[in-house]
Amino acid sequence: MSSNTNAFHNALTQLSRATAVKPFSEELLTLLSVPEREIKVSIPVTMDDGSLRVFEGYRVQYSSVRGPYKGGIRYHEQADADEVRALAFWMTMKTAVANIPMGGGKGGITVDPKKLSKGELERLSRGWVKALYPVLGPRADVPAPDVNTTPEIMGWMADEYEKLTGDKTGAAFTGKPIERGGSEGRAMATGLGGYYAFEAMQKYVRLPEAPRVIIQGMGNVGGHAAQIFHEHGAVIVGMSDSKGGILCDTGLNPAEVERYKQSHGSLAGFPGARPVTNAELLAAPADVLVPAALENQITEHNAHDIHAAVVLELANGPTTPEADDLLLARGIRVIPDILANAGGVIVSTFEWEQNLQGEHWSEARVYEKLQHMMQSEARNLWTRAEELGTDLRRAAFIIALERLESALAARIT
Ligand code: NAD
Repeated sequence: MSSNTNAFHNALTQLSRATAVKPFSEELLTLLSVPEREIKVSIPVTMDDGSLRVFEGYRVQYSSVRGPYKGGIRYHEQADADEVRALAFWMTMKTAVANIPMGGGKGGITVDPKKLSKGELERLSRGWVKALYPVLGPRADVPAPDVNTTPEIMGWMADEYEKLTGDKTGAAFTGKPIERGGSEGRAMATGLGGYYAFEAMQKYVRLPEAPRVIIQGMGNVGGHAAQIFHEHGAVIVGMSDSKGGILCDTGLNPAEVERYKQSHGSLAGFPGARPVTNAELLAAPADVLVPAALENQITEHNAHDIHAAVVLELANGPTTPEADDLLLARGIRVIPDILANAGGVIVSTFEWEQNLQGEHWSEARVYEKLQHMMQSEARNLWTRAEELGTDLRRAAFIIALERLESALAARIT
């Protein structure tokens, strides 16, 4: 089964669960039940051997009620219209929960980038922009990185956009390399933002001073999160990538694990640690479980096995609605993705602002603003959930819907 099966259905289930706690206008819910625009493109690429391959690409522009569409581009062999639509919907909720002046969108290409040469990857990335540039732009739709899209890829895309349109602001794409107009702190932003959200809520959920943390996925988000938790005194007892994971009761040093992965190609065999499957990793004892890979990792089939007190969702959609019920019934707190991983889109928005204003902010300024925004929204979320007598995910959706509703009311005459 693909990890993204029914992702959009799950997203709409989350929405209807929230509106059962607090009702919203039919008009808003009808608008949010479908994307404003959904585009599928064919991207022809000349491969290194001279043959021609055509790849499927997507951009879903879900909602512009609160500002230009904003959201990453995913390169994955299972990326499809359903997954991109779900991710674009979640971006709409996330930009509202984070309270940034952006709407929601998402893109994708169905490809395993590890099977392409660097030249093929560059031609494919530039091809995505050639196919879609008329609907993109700093005031229209601002894509960012997601799974398997790196600063280098975002730099190629920004360059292609500039060639095609003459726009030299660089503000049409975020997550670019610093020397191409990227922001300080963008690489760390999602992991760091997640840590700030956790820190703001830690005082409400009784956890040990040095919590034991398991992190699934060690890409841009999970890798940085592991490092940040480690630096703040947490004990990283488990880490994994797509090939499997390792557990170590006495704690892992994420930088050493990363170096080992670089030189050995996988985590298996890391000295002093026990190799495990991803299923075993999720079920291992810990205070905090951080899914930072893909959707649908915690389902009705394994929710009973989760032992953590807190699930900090740094991936998008890692917990299905059925699993949410099971975790809630067992008193496990889920800090939902639409808040927990909003640090990426917040710093992407800082990058967009810097590009439009011709500025370059210091790392300290970026982190200070990020911390302030994440922590105040995290505290706000906790308070709203208490007031509404509901869980954090429903409360986060309600906050987003309230903000979308007032933006909509201000538009309609
Ligand atoms: P990435 O491509 O940098 O890394 C993905 C990681 O997940 C890799 O380590 C990969 O080996 C691992 N992985 C893949 N399948 C796995 C599996 N089945 N089990 C365990 N590990 C697996 O991607 P990323 O940018 O770190 O994104 C990870 C998640 O965070 C995604 O859900 C993404 O949508 C979300 N997210 C990313 C950002 C961002 O700024 N990049 C922002 C918000 C949310």
